[in-house]
Amino acid sequence: MPATNKRVIPIKLVSVAPAKKKKAKKKPAYDCRKCPGYCCSYPLIEVTKRDVARLAKHFGLTYEQTEKRYTRYDKSEKAIALRRQKDRHYGHICKMFDTRKRQCTVYEARPGVCRDYPVAKTCGYYDFLLFERDQQEDKKFVATTNS
Ligand code: SF4
Ligand code: SF4
Repeated sequence: MPATNKRVIPIKLVSVAPAKKKKAKKKPAYDCRKCPGYCCSYPLIEVTKRDVARLAKHFGLTYEQTEKRYTRYDKSEKAIALRRQKDRHYGHICKMFDTRKRQCTVYEARPGVCRDYPVAKTCGYYDFLLFERDQQEDKKFVATTNS
């Protein structure tokens, strides 16, 4: 069954103001381990130079090698973003996502924005995912936002 597109799910993953981060301290009502990684499929996942440096250290590469291999410059947003790869569920997803295991391959070195998201104690996509899995009576159903 096609997913509804009425939910407001951001298409851009960016850092938030520190003041808002404090609200995320409560126990979250979502479990990323049970999610197929929807937020990793956002078209623009912005990273900082510090993020690139952390990834470079993780991979044992130079900053330039890491930047070239895992990031791209988005002209319209004037931002450095993570490169993507094809994904059977969401069309495209972060290049550092394991599309078979459905998990981040650089979790310990992931960018700051990936650590912060979804900021609140709830995740709109996770609520949607649980609803669809319940409707489909399939605990592994992967809900998409394509009609
Ligand atoms: S979409 Fe939500 S539940 Fe899924 S990985 Fe991202 S933050 Fe976690
Ligand atoms: S670095 Fe990891 S957590 Fe961040 S978007 Fe890529 S796969 Fe997802």
